[in-house]
Amino acid sequence: MKLTFLGAAGTVTGSKYLLEADGTRVLVDCGLFQGVKNLRERNWKPLGVDPKDLDAVLLTHAHIDHSGYLPVLVRDGFAGKIHCTPPTRDLCAILLPDSGHIQEEDARYANKKGFSKHRPAKPLYTSVDGERALSAFAPVELERSFAVGALQVTLRSAGHILGAASIQVEHRGTSILFSGDLGRDDDLLMPPPTRPQSPDWVVIESTYGNRQHPQVDPLSALEQAVRPCLERGGIALLPAFAVGRAQLLLYCFERLFAHERLPRVPVFLNSPMATSATALYQQHVAYHRLDPRQCADVCDLATFVRSVEDSKALNRRAGPMVVISASGMLTGGRVLHHLAAYGPGRKNAILLPGYQPPGTRGHSLLEGARSLKVHGARVAINAEVAQLDVFSAHADQGGLLGWLGACERPPRGVFVTHGEPASADALRLEIKDQLAYRARVPELGDQVELD
Ligand SMILES: [Zn+2]
Repeated sequence: MKLTFLGAAGTVTGSKYLLEADGTRVLVDCGLFQGVKNLRERNWKPLGVDPKDLDAVLLTHAHIDHSGYLPVLVRDGFAGKIHCTPPTRDLCAILLPDSGHIQEEDARYANKKGFSKHRPAKPLYTSVDGERALSAFAPVELERSFAVGALQVTLRSAGHILGAASIQVEHRGTSILFSGDLGRDDDLLMPPPTRPQSPDWVVIESTYGNRQHPQVDPLSALEQAVRPCLERGGIALLPAFAVGRAQLLLYCFERLFAHERLPRVPVFLNSPMATSATALYQQHVAYHRLDPRQCADVCDLATFVRSVEDSKALNRRAGPMVVISASGMLTGGRVLHHLAAYGPGRKNAILLPGYQPPGTRGHSLLEGARSLKVHGARVAINAEVAQLDVFSAHADQGGLLGWLGACERPPRGVFVTHGEPASADALRLEIKDQLAYRARVPELGDQVELD
């Protein structure tokens, strides 16, 4: 087999690996590069393989940095199947058309402001392209091996988010395991990642390759962060990613109310995408830890805000209450209207669950900004601001090493990808020191023969 690194090398996003053997060509993941401009511009460069020459795509999970280039691939002539788990397909049905919509909005904005060097600026793809890509999906359950040309493929649970999988590919007695994004063994909603068996080669992610998660009980952390705000009659605003984080927060509130650790206040989930994703947890109960009864309790807990009118009415409602809304970094979405409405109130709290990269409003808030620009107007921030960094869906360094160290025999080689350079290199060193496996950090475009 020959492996080529077409993305997620030297960076966290743009996951794409080309695997070739005996005339069969597959792409493992097909993600968008995201983040700063020079990364996003890579999405416009040629892929490195003609989509028409690919037999299949093997998709680890639905996050856009793993799936978001599929609409381009299908539009440009890819005629094979996209194999992934059923929940991943259903999540892509929500995320890919939305991603196209965001590309169209960005192009419209660039044209209005006149700052694109392309005139008129075009979207990378449209919401219609996103929908068209869905017809190529051919879902497969976990642990059911299937053939793609000369290759034998098996999807294994990776934890992380609903439907996420690691992917093992075998060819003539040689195997390679792609970790995908690995979740945490102690995740409240997701099952622990399935341990590797005895792969010859491993491609492992390194998002948290140089970090350990704090040893904090997420329920206690949420309780302590929210309680003072609710006791003073305030509104607790929790910006959250629509897939994964929003559902985990709902589950935590359900537990805290059930154990009377918090007063039972109204909880609103205001994100159409998060509402659709929550319904998928009820449809795919085998893919998470909750039984149907617990799942129903979690869904009953929240009021799902659907219309724009209801979303606006929420801003006139008095506390105490909890509002969960997307986007998680305050970069767009309905949460911005709530930020403008609740930010000035001294009784309120804005609780940022997760990493906030520089350049986002979330980052400015954590840096102590007392006013923010929202929809062209300055908004005073008198509300309490705090970070709730206990809900990561990624394994930390210890988790990654624990997963990899469970191999039944040392792999011939490990490729460390999907991390910032410092993170990937720190994990590489730990793999060498602690596990005595051969490991390297590949660069974009690197090719290796796997024998
Ligand atoms: Zn992911």
